[in-house]
Amino acid sequence: TPQVIIIGRPNVGKSTLFNRLVGKRIALVDDQPGVTRDRRFGEAVLLGMEFTAVDTAGWEDEDPGSLPGRMRAQTEVSLKGADIALFVIDARAGVTPLDEEIARWLRGQNVPVVLVANKAEGRAGEPGLLESYSLGFGEPVALSAEHGEGVADLFEALQPLIEKDESGDTHLTPEVNVPVELDEDGEVIENDLSAAPLHLAVVGRPNAGKSTLINRLLEEDRLLTGPEAGITRDSIAVDWEWTDPKSGQLRPVRLVDTAGMRKKARVIDKLERLSVLDAQRSIDYAEVVVLLLDATRGLETQDLKIANLVLEEGRALIIAINKWDVAQEPSSLFNGIRAALEEGLAQLRGVPLIAVSAVTGKGLDNLLNAAFDVREAWSRRIPTSALNRWFDDALSANPPPAPGGKRIKLRYITQNKTRPPSFVVFGTRLDALPKSYERYLMNSIRRDLGFGAVPVRLALRSPKN
Ligand code: GDP
Repeated sequence: TPQVIIIGRPNVGKSTLFNRLVGKRIALVDDQPGVTRDRRFGEAVLLGMEFTAVDTAGWEDEDPGSLPGRMRAQTEVSLKGADIALFVIDARAGVTPLDEEIARWLRGQNVPVVLVANKAEGRAGEPGLLESYSLGFGEPVALSAEHGEGVADLFEALQPLIEKDESGDTHLTPEVNVPVELDEDGEVIENDLSAAPLHLAVVGRPNAGKSTLINRLLEEDRLLTGPEAGITRDSIAVDWEWTDPKSGQLRPVRLVDTAGMRKKARVIDKLERLSVLDAQRSIDYAEVVVLLLDATRGLETQDLKIANLVLEEGRALIIAINKWDVAQEPSSLFNGIRAALEEGLAQLRGVPLIAVSAVTGKGLDNLLNAAFDVREAWSRRIPTSALNRWFDDALSANPPPAPGGKRIKLRYITQNKTRPPSFVVFGTRLDALPKSYERYLMNSIRRDLGFGAVPVRLALRSPKN
């Protein structure tokens, strides 16, 4: 049966929870070397669900002074072999620095975590319960181990992780619990987009009108423009606010102008070479990249190369056709460019394509609207349950192949990252899964889940053990 380890700082009620789960059944004691104090193992039954519970409470009464370090060392040992961690906090005490430290450490471990806010009977635990979302393990299970409250909620939280097979044995469901995005320090990155400036880069060949466009947006002559290619030599970031004409709302934008990505042959002097680097860097800094085409020149190979680079870097892309004021036969031009984009690069299917004129200002509000929309999609997280409902449909619509008569089993999908949206599919015999099937899944994700042409990442994983 799956092993569920109970982890948490002293006094949060780990042993009480262990006893509640294991009841009067005999608890085995582990005296494995390397664990100073014994761990207790017990066969737990939770509303008919069976698993092995592991109590780690034995550590806490030794030398409290050096607790965090030692606790970590011991938890590390105990976590080996564990399939799921129940991370217990005291809802009445709220989130303490030690809880945060344990959380930080746990996030780096490859084990699904269920957060349990214990001592949550009555109302005294409510603030702590809310606070515990900040630990980054999603919704906490409010529990009173002592009073036996919240047991059904714990069952609900564990159920997606533990499954029964035909013979009635319980197994670990392949899943990871990485509900949030973390920075280098393991801190949760909150994606509250409403106040965050949109980081927007404008790229395109020389003379496409990048500088003119940005001047127009800013409505002041801050950047140099001129008829010769490459007159803007530096990348410049400008913070600015766009007034959404529909809502009248002011929305912050950080614009990064780029010197233009020139064909290699045209990169003559050092200064120009620097500018190319700048353009690449501005893609790095951008959330959304606008690739500006020139209506008087149509789509060129270099444009597709830039588009491909933007998608490879995982940025949300918009394509704008500039100089629309002087475009010949606009509607056939537009359709022609749309077709040429999709033919040139399959991933461009569904990319927002917007006609603009940097000179007259036509289409610029559409462009900004589209930019905010694609940032939203690029940052979107699909809840695991909804994602798996979609997954089941996608698998029945087009079942994975059975090379050599053996079926490839795809069991579960989760979104482990946003910006760009990244997904992990769990299953068995994944080595045999053809690339075309991966592409089918990625394209379906983009089409069915509203990501459009936002680049999407997909990884395959087989369950450990
Ligand atoms: P950059 O190299 O991409 O920054 O291009 P510039 O902004 O310097 O523009 C190159 C040339 O195209 C200039 O002569 C602009 O006046 C012209 N241009 C830019 N946008 C438009 C537009 O929307 N319509 C027209 N007719 N000309 C434009």
